[in-house]
Amino acid sequence: MDEVFSDLANIPSEPPEVRSTCPTCERPTSVCWCAALPKPRLCPQSRIILLQHPAEEKRCLRTAPMLHFGLSEGKCLVYKGKRFPGRYQDLEELLVGSNTILLYPSPTAVDLKSLLQNNTNTSFNLVIIDGTWPQAKAIYASNPILHKIKQVKLLTKGVSSYIIRTQPTDGCLSTLETATEALCLLEDDEGYRKLLAPLKTLCDFQLKNGAVSHQSKEFLIKNNKYPKLIGKRLNKVLNSVEVLRGE
Ligand SMILES: [Zn+2]
Repeated sequence: MDEVFSDLANIPSEPPEVRSTCPTCERPTSVCWCAALPKPRLCPQSRIILLQHPAEEKRCLRTAPMLHFGLSEGKCLVYKGKRFPGRYQDLEELLVGSNTILLYPSPTAVDLKSLLQNNTNTSFNLVIIDGTWPQAKAIYASNPILHKIKQVKLLTKGVSSYIIRTQPTDGCLSTLETATEALCLLEDDEGYRKLLAPLKTLCDFQLKNGAVSHQSKEFLIKNNKYPKLIGKRLNKVLNSVEVLRGE
């Protein structure tokens, strides 16, 4: 048993890779994608308004921060919740604005490209619901204020270039990819594709290292991958504890 305790004493409280966190993206610095952000931040005439389902914030692959930090201050506004405008005082004004459009693929939605061809306005507020497709549908259904906004859709291939390679999803574009496609059209500038670079960086991490987001200490111990810090004896003890707890 003494040996087990000496093993225990040698374990640092956290694995090295989670010790320092990037203040911007809030990810461990070893998997931070901030270096891939456009410099300087891009400043479109239009503005993106994300209505974010509360569960979206907890998902492994969150692309909203990449959009937020890739665009100038105030060009990507994020509102969290299920009811809108809810507690946000400035949001109602934005949602009812005459230059506000909602990206939502309803039967009445018009192709964004053709809307722009027949419009002299160059500055829009583009509302995007940030969440899975069922979450987006639920938010749309329960917020009548959204039904009054002019609805647009994107006619793209509709398959994510990145996510599909790492994890199967419902085949939708990520929020970042959706907003990027829209901005290329709104601003008539393919340069907005620079916004995708952090997502590419993140996917490269994932492809190299497996599910990066699961590299908690608990995960590494459970999968016997806590690197060189844990002895075989201690591992045995930990596993037997799990058996006792019925896990
Ligand atoms: Zn970062």
